[in-house]
Amino acid sequence: MRFIYYIVSSFVVIFVSMLFFPNESQADTRELFEVGETLLNVRSEPSDQAEIIGKLQAGDQLVAFEEKYGWIKTFYDGKEAWVAGHYLHNIGQVSEAKETEEEKIKVVTKNTHIRSGPGSSYSSIGTLPAGKSYRLIETKGEWHQIEVNNGQNGWIASWHTDTPAQEATSASVSAHTIKAPDQQTSSITSATKPLDGYHIMLDPGHGGKDSGAMGLKNVYEKNITFTTAQKIADKLREAGATVLTTRSKDTYISLDRRVELSHSNKTNAFISIHYNAFPDSSVSGLNTFYYSKKNDLRLAENVHTSLTASIDMKDRGILQKNYRVLRTNHAPSILLELGFITNPNDLAKIQSESFETNVAEAVTDGLKNYVQE
Ligand SMILES: [Zn+2]
Repeated sequence: MRFIYYIVSSFVVIFVSMLFFPNESQADTRELFEVGETLLNVRSEPSDQAEIIGKLQAGDQLVAFEEKYGWIKTFYDGKEAWVAGHYLHNIGQVSEAKETEEEKIKVVTKNTHIRSGPGSSYSSIGTLPAGKSYRLIETKGEWHQIEVNNGQNGWIASWHTDTPAQEATSASVSAHTIKAPDQQTSSITSATKPLDGYHIMLDPGHGGKDSGAMGLKNVYEKNITFTTAQKIADKLREAGATVLTTRSKDTYISLDRRVELSHSNKTNAFISIHYNAFPDSSVSGLNTFYYSKKNDLRLAENVHTSLTASIDMKDRGILQKNYRVLRTNHAPSILLELGFITNPNDLAKIQSESFETNVAEAVTDGLKNYVQE
């Protein structure tokens, strides 16, 4: 249900049209895609020679009904329509069931206490058996609020469920435990580091079943966003920051979950890392995206200035875009598109030995400037 709120109003037609295609809606799941950075042509046939019947904006979402030669069939103004798959990021699945289905979590520990609040200090209002599932209302830190029965709510520890409160929580714990001795020694031997006390959340784009864009030489976006994020994390930690990532392995994490993780960790800056793709292989360069002028723009400017000063790649500028990880994020947040994996020159640079290190240093410098301003 949730995703419906994110559909750009003109695009509701797709869902309306789903209702008029009973044959189509029998299948249990459909892939949901978000349109990438460019104005995307909607065509009448799966071919770039076919008539253009409309355009989509970055951030628009569409449901895929079929895939043919890299083209995705959807519905536009009630008509069958095709868009080039290259421009799309897979952001999950939808199904008729899923639109009404609530998120459920399963209790895995016998006699799990239900508490009146999100912590073990809150009073127990009962216990739950292992093996039963409950509707999830919200997650706060490591605690899930669930509907127990008859509309009555309570809180249970996420470690007693099949949905632990994810890597970020444990990462946050380990970051603190690793950092403590570090800080003790540094307080004796040296001055504080420039990013001491700052919580930076890095968001390697895509993962798991969502491979992101596919580039030349079978490069998957999800793999390089991951290695780049790790390099950036290392540099930021050297500069004193507490760094968390939205995923620590090749797993699928929803966009909403990425934002939740950002919120649950008092993030001072959220940086989503992506690589771009385009059907025309001559398109190249790097972009920084932000959503809120008030919250994000200054972060975008600092990081982008630093990136373009040290990375030898076409500067495609700082742009405002309606990306969900930015729009719904309370923390200052930006999204980096660090070159086109469909452009041979960009890809050669991206795959060079120094690229990720240079990006990591540039992002770190940009953040240092950001916190000093
Ligand atoms: Zn991406």
